[in-house]
Amino acid sequence: MTDFQSFGINEAILRAISDMGFEEPSPIQAAAIPKILQGLDMIGQAQTGTGKTAAFGIPIVEKVDPKDMRVQALVLTPTRELAIQVSGEIRKLAQYKRVRVLPIYGGQSIGHQIRAVKQGVQVVIGTPGRLIDHIERGTLALTSVRILVLDEADEMLDMGFIDDIERILKVLPEERQTLLFSATMPPEIRRLANRYMKNPETIRVTKEEVAAPSIEQVYFKVLERNKVDALCRILDAEETELGIIFCRTKKGVDELAEALQTRGYLVDAIHGDLSQAQRDKVMNDFRSGRIEYLIATDVAARGIDVSGVSHVINYDIPQDPESYVHRIGRTGRAGKRGRAITLVTPREMKQLRVIQQVTKSHIEPRELPTIEEANERRIAQFMAEVRTAIENGESHPLIEEALEKLRADYGDFEMLQGLAYVALKDAVMEEQDDAYSFGETGAEDGMVRFFINVGKNIGITPNRLADELAQLIGISAREIGRIDIFDRFTFVEVPENSAPFLYEALKQGKLFGTRIYIEPAKPRARR
Ligand code: ADP
Ligand code: MG
Repeated sequence: MTDFQSFGINEAILRAISDMGFEEPSPIQAAAIPKILQGLDMIGQAQTGTGKTAAFGIPIVEKVDPKDMRVQALVLTPTRELAIQVSGEIRKLAQYKRVRVLPIYGGQSIGHQIRAVKQGVQVVIGTPGRLIDHIERGTLALTSVRILVLDEADEMLDMGFIDDIERILKVLPEERQTLLFSATMPPEIRRLANRYMKNPETIRVTKEEVAAPSIEQVYFKVLERNKVDALCRILDAEETELGIIFCRTKKGVDELAEALQTRGYLVDAIHGDLSQAQRDKVMNDFRSGRIEYLIATDVAARGIDVSGVSHVINYDIPQDPESYVHRIGRTGRAGKRGRAITLVTPREMKQLRVIQQVTKSHIEPRELPTIEEANERRIAQFMAEVRTAIENGESHPLIEEALEKLRADYGDFEMLQGLAYVALKDAVMEEQDDAYSFGETGAEDGMVRFFINVGKNIGITPNRLADELAQLIGISAREIGRIDIFDRFTFVEVPENSAPFLYEALKQGKLFGTRIYIEPAKPRARR
């Protein structure tokens, strides 16, 4: 095990690290810091939340000459939030060694930035667009930069910053150290590295060493039409500190925020249409716990770093494995435990499989809490509150007055019954589970039988069909029931609780590449 002392860095930095509460280097730090101190170009690949900022921040602070007032290190980040966050972390690392650190990003007055630069700055953390503004105006001299860092390089490329980055690279001295950090390594990044880095060493911290143990990954099968209800039941059953709920689109974010607010959940939305002031307010509410869940798009969530995010919920499944990795990296940070929950509709099961394969992660299936379980939880919570109130002797003059009035007309137990009913009726009201009802299909007890309009004509065999359907609905092939295959059609039985999911997956869908038609079987068709 390495410790921070073994890097041979300045005492002032070690003191700052200890103030920050870091006890030992994270794996990427242990691997990267010695190489960076040696002056090598380096590519660091590790998931979000693995401590990449300090991996380059510590050597930068070590290497900066405090007497030279020119810009010596430049860090490029994709977003304003990230620039501020990285700058904050480097400032903390530099607090006992007088190093001047400045974030430079769009949205802030350029005049203010120009004045700050004139005071002298040694480490600049900036977003590409605003840096180019300064370069064009001649208000930021970068000719003495000795260390360049591309942070979250994959995000920068995704956001279309490649041309900007190349322009910035052109004004930097050839003689410099270049470091690149990224959670993923698509080919574009390799190309960038080959062009602008000198024999870079690649350091990869694999998933197993970081996120895997601290993030528990589960999925729930849900139907498109009762996704909101399913989510509420999940939220009710989770012990959440803070959570981020991801949706695919801005519209989706707004709709879900409204639906959850209406149901009394403490949530707010964040997406690209918000003004900076609105965004800051939402983020402050979130950090301080005034809202419990932040509902966001992938873009809006970039650069969000809030400690205490216990849950990441993919309300809409991520579009690609990389974004899955980015999303779930918002929880389980710095060794804390986190939970990643993905909702999967019938048509998204394939997507889930791709994500599992590419990220080599195991995402466990979970059953939605039933209505009974949800009710039991609410009642248990009510009873706990009542007990606390009794034990603390809580009371209020107006309440006592009301009790006296009731007592004049009713007995104690009658009163209690009435009070409890009023308090609990909403919590335990018959909720309706709007699952499908397939009626009598001629299946065995607990099963539903379906008719599918293809059979031996497309080469279906019992084993192939059982395997395919089991994959499609996320159960084991053994749970598929009786299968009868004819020349041009097939009957198959599946467990009742998987039936709606199968039906939605296959209606207007394909089986072994053939477009098919599926319907609940009619009982008399049974032989
Ligand atoms: P990344 O850039 O890899 O996504 P960050 O650098 O933002 O990750 O680090 C994630 C969190 O972990 C931050 O809050 C950071 O302060 C903390 N952290 C970094 N290194 C350590 C360490 N060695 N020990 C404990 N916490 C750390
Ligand atoms: Mg980072």
